[in-house]
Amino acid sequence: MPEIEADTGSVEVVTDSPERTQQLGENIGRLIQPGDVICLSGELGAGKTTLAKGIGHGWGAVEVVTSPTFVFVNEYTRADGGRLYHADAYRLKDAADAESIALADILSDMTSTVLIEWPERVKTYLPEARLWVELMWESEGVRRIRVQGVGARYDSFLEAVSKA
Ligand code: ADP
Ligand code: MG
Repeated sequence: MPEIEADTGSVEVVTDSPERTQQLGENIGRLIQPGDVICLSGELGAGKTTLAKGIGHGWGAVEVVTSPTFVFVNEYTRADGGRLYHADAYRLKDAADAESIALADILSDMTSTVLIEWPERVKTYLPEARLWVELMWESEGVRRIRVQGVGARYDSFLEAVSKA
């Protein structure tokens, strides 16, 4: 990955194609563990879903299905029975609306990992400890992606991301 700058608690990467962003996602996906919460923040078209797909791939997803239980949530499943939720809060107007996607249920399930797009819309539901990924549109084809860890769990995580 080009232009990696690691400083205290964050890693910044500039990707020059969707494939590069997906690669970064795959590196992140290989590191995630049950109980992790990964927030994907950024404007429409910033590359959140592209990154999420890479994360799912790196994690080892064999199948992606629309959640049978939750609206606006996809479930990635793995051969070993592991589960990765991918929630999109874009259409939620406020935190109260988050009830409708049972976000609290998903977040309290410590046997699975959660990816969430538009996390700022449901901030009150999010745990203090989380990985916060900010995707910024730089120019056509180019995105700046800052990965920030909140909580001790993510210190080692960031170190691994910066080495990957
Ligand atoms: P979001 O979920 O943030 O709305 P998407 O991942 O759905 O964004 O879409 C990102 C769009 O930007 C895609 O059409 C993708 O091809 C394009 N794109 C161009 N350059 C990049 C890049 N470096 N990283 C990610 N996406 C990129
Ligand atoms: Mg999206």
